[in-house]
Amino acid sequence: RLDERTREIVKATVPVLAEHGEAITTHFYKRMLTERPELKNYFNMTHQKDGKQPRALANAVYAAASHIDDLSAIAPAAETIAEKHVSLNIRPEHYPIIGEYLLKAIKEVLGDAVDEEVIDAWELAYGEIADLFISIEDEKYKASAWTGYRLFTIHKKVKESEEITSFYLKPEDGGSLPSYRPGQYIGIKADIPDYPHTQRRQYSLSDAPGKDYLRISVKREGGTEEIPAGLVSTWLHDQVQEGDVVPISAPAGDFYLNESTSRPVVLLSGGVGLTPLMSMYKKTRDERDVYFIHAARNGGVHGLKEEMDGEQTYVVYETPSEEDKTLAAYDKAGYVDLDWLRNVVPKEADFYFCGPEGFMRAMNGALHEWGIPDEQVNYEFFGPKGTL
Ligand code: FAD
Repeated sequence: RLDERTREIVKATVPVLAEHGEAITTHFYKRMLTERPELKNYFNMTHQKDGKQPRALANAVYAAASHIDDLSAIAPAAETIAEKHVSLNIRPEHYPIIGEYLLKAIKEVLGDAVDEEVIDAWELAYGEIADLFISIEDEKYKASAWTGYRLFTIHKKVKESEEITSFYLKPEDGGSLPSYRPGQYIGIKADIPDYPHTQRRQYSLSDAPGKDYLRISVKREGGTEEIPAGLVSTWLHDQVQEGDVVPISAPAGDFYLNESTSRPVVLLSGGVGLTPLMSMYKKTRDERDVYFIHAARNGGVHGLKEEMDGEQTYVVYETPSEEDKTLAAYDKAGYVDLDWLRNVVPKEADFYFCGPEGFMRAMNGALHEWGIPDEQVNYEFFGPKGTL
């Protein structure tokens, strides 16, 4: 346990570091990935370019450091991050490397503003935070259906919409599949031809557990003239074919259906954010009072449409196409808003939502405005933790 003086120093310097948070972590990644290029196989290299990864790390470290007196205060956030780490196969031996470069970055960015005593205190604090993560992750690895990666064959590839394609995965070893909690995700390790680093991504399981396959449904991130297309989603769509074999990490994640309550369930999804909710929907639709609301730009990009076939399902298209209008394929044009929501779903419910950033903010705002207690609000964000 850290002594009082160390904890005081860390807490007193959190604001200073936080102020320079992104400068420090940007510097940290740059130096670490230059000197230890093998680590590029672990990090999302696109998020290095768009700044999301440094931001996520900075937020996590400062949140932890500001609670250095009682790290149990960060338990929920640590839980989510640890689940992600396990899906990425992050190991105890990775932590000292991160620590070394983080301290170097603090020294280099802050220069004379920090003395030796401050650096020593942060070194101890980092060790304490790292130990917490290592122990949580150790438990998770022990409970995991398999450790690291298991090879899966692409049994079936099915186009679900103009942008979304499903992949049905079966273990290459012919062994059995674990159960998982609807809402959880798997990790995929992508060695993309002509791309120099292994890339790892998470994909939510989009079907109910208990099948002889795992299914993921992936949106093609097409890019624009200025922005390059997404690496892994484009590879999956364009290059990975039925019969190919891909390494997959075991189901993980702390966004899943709370089966200890019998309250109605309200699922709110935007775009490809429907995948974890579809799994929940399929698992629970015959057992509980379930409402499923899905928002998409239009019918052309609405994936898994025919699987949303229960009575209490609502489709909201931002800009319905002529065909959508002819088919009367939607319940509302525009956006999901609170006035509409309170008319179609009960308030005494467990709410789950997932979607693009704007959708997430809108849902979070609407549920708060409606007065839904925090413990009934659950969400998954497809970007790095701490950047929403
Ligand atoms: P990346 O290469 O990571 O690029 C991401 C985005 O940035 C793309 O839109 C790309 O066009 C853009 N970009 C590229 N270069 C730049 C640049 N220089 N500057 C700015 N922008 C740039 N996705 C699904 O489709 N289905 C799911 O079920 C799903 N579940 C998920 C579950 C979890 C828990 C998480 C964390 C994510 C999930 N995702 C899911 C998202 C998925 O993991 C990937 O992030 C997504 O497929 C994009 O990866 P990519 O490699 O194709 O794109």
